[in-house]
Amino acid sequence: MQTIVVTGGAGFLGSHLCDLLIQKGEKVICVDNLFTGNKNNIKHLIGHENFVFINHNIIEPLSLENYMIDQIYNLACPASPIHYQVNSVRTIKANTIGVINMLGMAKKHKARILQASTSEVYGDPLEHPQTESYRGNVNTIGPRACYDEGKRVAETLFFDYHRQHALQIRIARIFNTYGPRMAEHDGRVVSNFIMQALRGDPITIYGDGKQTRSFCYVDDLLDGLYKLMNHESFKGPVNVGNPEEYTMIELAEKIIKMTGSKSKLTFETLPIDDPMQRRPDITLAKKELGWEPKVKVDDGLKKTIEYFKGVL
Ligand code: UDP
Repeated sequence: MQTIVVTGGAGFLGSHLCDLLIQKGEKVICVDNLFTGNKNNIKHLIGHENFVFINHNIIEPLSLENYMIDQIYNLACPASPIHYQVNSVRTIKANTIGVINMLGMAKKHKARILQASTSEVYGDPLEHPQTESYRGNVNTIGPRACYDEGKRVAETLFFDYHRQHALQIRIARIFNTYGPRMAEHDGRVVSNFIMQALRGDPITIYGDGKQTRSFCYVDDLLDGLYKLMNHESFKGPVNVGNPEEYTMIELAEKIIKMTGSKSKLTFETLPIDDPMQRRPDITLAKKELGWEPKVKVDDGLKKTIEYFKGVL
């Protein structure tokens, strides 16, 4: 049995990751300050003999010296634009001070550490689809920079700790992901559209709705993270996402159809620096990890719609 820390473990991705690791028979230490994470996401794990929850913000030091830690998945950071912009300074702190704290822990425990990086490191990309060698087009002073630049500096810190301290690092660039346990109020497009469709409210399209995103179902995403973490040598950075690309209008129409909703589209202002297109090139993930997504968007959306019906 390995002892594995999951920061952000009460969040959407983190809680599914805790489930996966517990299922594999590992001991899981879930670290979350419950800012965007939610205890409901892990309530079924509380009391499990292999599960420990620690309410902690990673921007404060954490040593966990009573444990022998084998692996750390660093997922802690608000991930939706409305949440990471609420307190942008704290977002940067999570991605710098918080990341340094976790790298320090990995160094002390000689643990392998994986960073949840993001497609946002490509900014509003001028290369399409995005390969890992593309260096991105990020506005360093815009409202998204606390997250985008934060995650970029996190990647830098990971490689510096690797070069300087021989730390075992892994970096996944996570593209838009959806599925059950997405936060209802975090403003993400999939959760917004589904809730609006289920309630019969207008579907809020930002801008002209021609911008694109590519959506990966949570189970596929975690399979990719797990394979990366447990690969014997491949560090990444590697794109983990589903290359099926949709405009926001196409996504809205699909959700309206699947829910049988009478909702109509309404157009609102496009947020500043909102990327116009995004689709991962996953050649590297296929080659190095033997990974590619398996869940079709229609099947994943069906499960997600069922989940949100329960929320309603
Ligand atoms: N979006 C939209 N309506 C919404 C929420 C989001 O049209 O109610 C758009 C948003 O402008 C962006 C895309 O959907 O172009 C994805 O937004 P999300 O916040 O889910 O993810 P991110 O921008 O971080 O990729």
